[in-house]
Amino acid sequence: MGLEEKLPSGVLLTTVEQIVGFVRKTSMWPATFGLACCAIEMMAVGGPRYDIARFGMERFSATPRQADLMIVAGRVSQKMAPVLRTIYDQMAAPKWVIAMGVCASSGGMFNNYAIVQGVDHIVPVDIYLPGCPPRPEMLLDAILKLHDKVQNTKLGVHREREIEELEQRRLRALPLIQQTEEATR
Ligand code: SF4
Repeated sequence: MGLEEKLPSGVLLTTVEQIVGFVRKTSMWPATFGLACCAIEMMAVGGPRYDIARFGMERFSATPRQADLMIVAGRVSQKMAPVLRTIYDQMAAPKWVIAMGVCASSGGMFNNYAIVQGVDHIVPVDIYLPGCPPRPEMLLDAILKLHDKVQNTKLGVHREREIEELEQRRLRALPLIQQTEEATR
């Protein structure tokens, strides 16, 4: 339809990087992961009023293995932190994280020993979304900003980040391995 008018010669020139960015941004699947009040607003974007499916996100995935976007909606307690990290590790790469609301971004009003003071202590965050709670429109705006970021990310950057994370995991596990070795000697 309109496409033929824009491409009278039937030829479209682009780069592999642009195509990969386009495909990645239009096929993101969020993991189902609500933690507190912000999750109610997150759920609203899945309904017909906000209709997240318009952006290629047909559904929230119940398994992290079929998800590549984690929306951390709500405060993260210290006890939940390892669970969150495990879910993140199980997600397919390349993967992205949105910290939804002030609690996920910085601990918010919960400046105490029980709450992680920003989910970026646990997983790398791509977009910080302010508000308490942010409205569904704000979450959609954050998702579109993430799409722009993904579209303009150079090829190979995700792989570098993945390698860096694997190295960090190895370093974190090292003391545990040493303890186990000493105990079994
Ligand atoms: S930012 Fe506000 S709405 Fe969201 S989890 Fe924290 S207290 Fe609840």
